[in-house]
Amino acid sequence: MKILVTGGAGYIGSHLVDRLLERGDEVYVLDNLSTGKIVNVEHHLDNPRFHFINDTVLNEPLVEDLVKECALIYHLAAAVGVKFVVEDPLRAVLTNVKGTEIVLHYAYKYWRKIVLASTSEIYGKATKIPFEEEDDRVLGTTEVHRWSYSTSKAIDEHLAFAYHDKGLPIVILRYFNSYGPRLDEKGYGSVIANFIRQAMRGEPITVHGDGRQTRCFTYIDDTVQGTLLAAEVKAGEGMVFNIGTTMETSILELAGTIKALLASPSNVAFVPYEAYYGRGFEDTRRRVPSIERARKILGYEPKVGLEEGLKKTIEWCREHY
Ligand code: UDP
Repeated sequence: MKILVTGGAGYIGSHLVDRLLERGDEVYVLDNLSTGKIVNVEHHLDNPRFHFINDTVLNEPLVEDLVKECALIYHLAAAVGVKFVVEDPLRAVLTNVKGTEIVLHYAYKYWRKIVLASTSEIYGKATKIPFEEEDDRVLGTTEVHRWSYSTSKAIDEHLAFAYHDKGLPIVILRYFNSYGPRLDEKGYGSVIANFIRQAMRGEPITVHGDGRQTRCFTYIDDTVQGTLLAAEVKAGEGMVFNIGTTMETSILELAGTIKALLASPSNVAFVPYEAYYGRGFEDTRRRVPSIERARKILGYEPKVGLEEGLKKTIEWCREHY
């Protein structure tokens, strides 16, 4: 099948592309290499079933051509990562809203199934644990840039549902803290990349706040498994799914585990949020998905535990950081 992956040179996108090519699909990657990297896909450049286009999803005529050419679209191109969004909120909002608007417009015009990457940020700072897909969203003031990410992705979801009302087959995935090989070394959007780099260098491991905030870290294979199922299972059309594990880990525990796995001499250093994100930052205290819907409808089952996933990630980081 001919498949378009926007953001296919990114961290999640490139792993998805690996799997699609492995199973014999022909893959078109549209990526402007803003956070994506050519090294993530360069091992495919000689593959005649792989096509790389270095451009943006805001280029409408190009998006139209690609959508027309392909039978299925995975739309992963976005400004991702809280740190990026906080640093360049204008680009984040524009890319996420306009880009998705354009891709959906042409998916509708040529009637192509589309799997849309969303985020656990959607739930904001909701306190009802675990987060179920139909739960209310709880966000802070618009004066705090962090919430623009959640809001822009929510507009994307609304748009997708609106097209689904017109009959377009869409599926939305809310990814929960994915990690694995190819995480950006700078640690943008990933505490795990940051901690591994710091621990490898013997630098202080910077835990924000009191470190008791939690996340459910999801190994990339489990993220990709959910993404592939979303396109395959017809019953999932018109729905949104949480994709992640349900193992809740505090950031402080994570620091300890990474330090131990690397036998690192690093100390844990508690730093105020403001030192990293600037003033007026708000964090999500606990983030835990319910994955019952994905289990029941998609047959999704995450398989990789945190230590196992961290070991594989560390192995990759040792060669690349
Ligand atoms: N974090 C941290 N130290 C770092 C980077 C991040 O303590 O060097 C914290 C961050 O404040 C948040 C959690 O780790 O509470 C997860 O951050 P990440 O950027 O990985 O993803 P988020 O869940 O915020 O999207």
